[in-house]
Amino acid sequence: MSKIAAERCEDLLLRQFGQGPGAVGSAPGRVNLIGEHTDYNDGFVLPMALERRTGVALCPSPDCRWRFVSEHDDTVVEFSDEEAMQVGRRDWTSYCRGVAAGFRSAGHTVPPLCIAVASDVPLGGGLSSSAALEVSVASAIEGLIGVPIEPVTKALLCQKAEHEFAGVPCGYMDQAISVMGRADHALLIDCRSLEATLVPVSDGSVSVLIVNSMVRHELSGGEYAQRRAQCERAVKDIARVDGAVSSLRDVSLDLLATVRPHVEPIAWRRARHVAGEIARTLKAAVALRAGDYAGFGRLMDESHASLRDDYEVSCKELDLLVEIARCQCGVLGARMTGGGFGGCIVSLVASEHASTAGHAIAASYFAQTGVRPDWFVTRAGDGARTERAAH
Ligand code: ADP
Ligand code: MG
Repeated sequence: MSKIAAERCEDLLLRQFGQGPGAVGSAPGRVNLIGEHTDYNDGFVLPMALERRTGVALCPSPDCRWRFVSEHDDTVVEFSDEEAMQVGRRDWTSYCRGVAAGFRSAGHTVPPLCIAVASDVPLGGGLSSSAALEVSVASAIEGLIGVPIEPVTKALLCQKAEHEFAGVPCGYMDQAISVMGRADHALLIDCRSLEATLVPVSDGSVSVLIVNSMVRHELSGGEYAQRRAQCERAVKDIARVDGAVSSLRDVSLDLLATVRPHVEPIAWRRARHVAGEIARTLKAAVALRAGDYAGFGRLMDESHASLRDDYEVSCKELDLLVEIARCQCGVLGARMTGGGFGGCIVSLVASEHASTAGHAIAASYFAQTGVRPDWFVTRAGDGARTERAAH
């Protein structure tokens, strides 16, 4: 059997830097089952960790220079200690340097490091390879310095690294699920209180099928910022009518109906997606707990329609994939997942039909677009761990 990422990164460290690892960390990518564009509105999200992981092996640098290498780009990138701790040039090492800088800001002693990365999470496909990278670096550093970091603190530290060093204004979800995921569980996260609750998905009769449209999403693009601004506009307009409202989390669909004349029309539609999606996410968690997979699938379908029509963050390739997926035997529901404008769809599917459905969706998408989509079937995997500690 071929080696997993956590083993390959050790090999890479040895090959490139001639040193064994001081510590190794690994962390999963994630897929959001439901709750899209709710995170920055203080709402709920329901992601699960993938079985696909990123592995990071690291050791103290022999000469105080930081060195980075990834399987994805076999050239070594080098920085002085001062350069490494500054935002500076933005490249893939920003995600690692930001995390190391976060440890130092929190008062931990982190020496200059040699870092080797391997991953089975597809890059830039909306499955959060970026969070998997940050969280594996954090898990490896924990192992190196011998200080475990509390999960919420760790997720926030990694989120900050992505904001400040990578320049991506992501929410809290990606890093939180990568840290706190557990096999056979989804994680319901309240993005207002940051409380996270595991929701069992232990029934082996259902799996998750992920299909990549192969259209690259652009999260740092203007559309994301525009949607956030439209949500803020909706809150401002609604708060003039109801002073208790401070975010779209506070807005029910009933309230939204009554305030419609007072809200700018596009902002109102964006708000309808967010309020509806928060309600759907809570219902979906209840359905999952109860083993009501058909009900869960219907909520996924409704989520996609809302993202396509009210939030307008889908694209024709994602709509096509969702449409094809829903025609397959055993598929209980399907939706775009991630920020939108490309990336992946996620569907809940009867395990016995999952592989057949994946092949059929890929063949039909290829026939209609000329593009071969990557796809895989997964169950919920474990969150981050330190694979090897220095002490
Ligand atoms: P996503 O998180 O959905 O995969 P992003 O654009 O947020 O997409 O993050 C992808 C970026 O993260 C890559 O372009 C690269 O800079 C960095 N990255 C993630 N994983 C790795 C890796 N294993 N090796 C090198 N860079 C990585
Ligand atoms: Mg990302």
